[in-house]
Amino acid sequence: MIPTIRITPRGEDRLRSAHPWIYRSDLRDPSAGPGSIVRVVGPKDRLLGQALYSDRSQIALRMIARGEAVIDAAFWRARLAAAIGFRNALGLDATAYRLVHGEADLLPSLIVDRYGDYLVVQALSQGMDRLLPELVPILVELTGARGVLARNDPRVRLLEGLEQTVQALHGEVPEAIEATEGPITYMVDPWHGQKTGLFLDQRENREAAARYARGRVLDCFSYNGGFGLRLAAAADRVEALDSSADAVARITENARRNGITNLEAREANVFDELRHLEREAGRYDTIVLDPPAFAKNKASVQKALAGYKQINLRVLRLLAPGGYLVTCSCSYNVDESMFAQVVYEASVDSHVPVTVVEKRMQGRDHPVLLGVPETYYLKCLVLRKLS
Ligand code: SAH
Repeated sequence: MIPTIRITPRGEDRLRSAHPWIYRSDLRDPSAGPGSIVRVVGPKDRLLGQALYSDRSQIALRMIARGEAVIDAAFWRARLAAAIGFRNALGLDATAYRLVHGEADLLPSLIVDRYGDYLVVQALSQGMDRLLPELVPILVELTGARGVLARNDPRVRLLEGLEQTVQALHGEVPEAIEATEGPITYMVDPWHGQKTGLFLDQRENREAAARYARGRVLDCFSYNGGFGLRLAAAADRVEALDSSADAVARITENARRNGITNLEAREANVFDELRHLEREAGRYDTIVLDPPAFAKNKASVQKALAGYKQINLRVLRLLAPGGYLVTCSCSYNVDESMFAQVVYEASVDSHVPVTVVEKRMQGRDHPVLLGVPETYYLKCLVLRKLS
């Protein structure tokens, strides 16, 4: 017997707006096991669909199907095959990319990234956590993966009352996997690297940035080298900055592996380093700013905006006239218009006239589900300094 959960009129309105989440405050008399699949009915018992239930998170229900549907292995197989088929059709010039982007693939709270012959999965709700043992064999069958790693260590799992664990669920997963992105080869450590190993969402922005790069390049928040390595071919010289010693070691190693000799990586706090460079106006022709999410929640938005403004203002001064700035924000809580406003204010305060050359977002393998703003988090602007 599938348990039934009744929701309020407000919850029903939300479902009608295409959003798949129902908050706990919109449930009437919830009673189902953690992570179970439940029938969702409206205030008058009309069947609305089926959902994954969480007994801990404020997001109590994540819809998986509207109306009647049989949720069985064939159902999941069809959903996963659709997500994988979409990526295959994109013709990506990379061996590392996202196969499943949660809600945007109608597979709420499931992330699957491909690194060559290996998959890295994340289950970010009780329901997905419970389903993983059923989904992994289907993923293996559909992709022919040699190994599957669960990188179930994101902090959001704590909100679900789930433990943070990293473990192989299928085959053996090495600590070093070779991945290519266009002309660049990386060694990726899916067990310990940030996110699932690489910042896959920036792949197409790295490609775009390479079209503008020239002269002296500064790659701020470089991690293991995403932008810097890609831009090196068009640059005289690349300086990459990251506060993590491990990231600096990796970018240096990745540069060597790719035969790149004009890149120098330094361990530095970008905020401090940009202050030190204050007197060097006009020193760089191309600058990339790809900071971590400064606004992890609503409460930190004001502080985050001040941080974004400060670094953008400083790098606009550091750019030579005619130079390009590729500036990004991956804070979901700072939306597109807030980010554009911050960059505008940075240009006013630095007295630097700027044109917007491109407006970009996360790569196509991380699509945005209309009506679900949470699936749109990465903003990227390519700007040109006029004088
Ligand atoms: N541009 C990278 C991804 C950057 S992720 C790519 O394309 O792959 C953000 C990086 O910023 C992380 O590597 C983190 O170590 C680093 N970081 C965080 N705070 C920092 C700071 N204050 N100064 C320098 N680096 C910082």
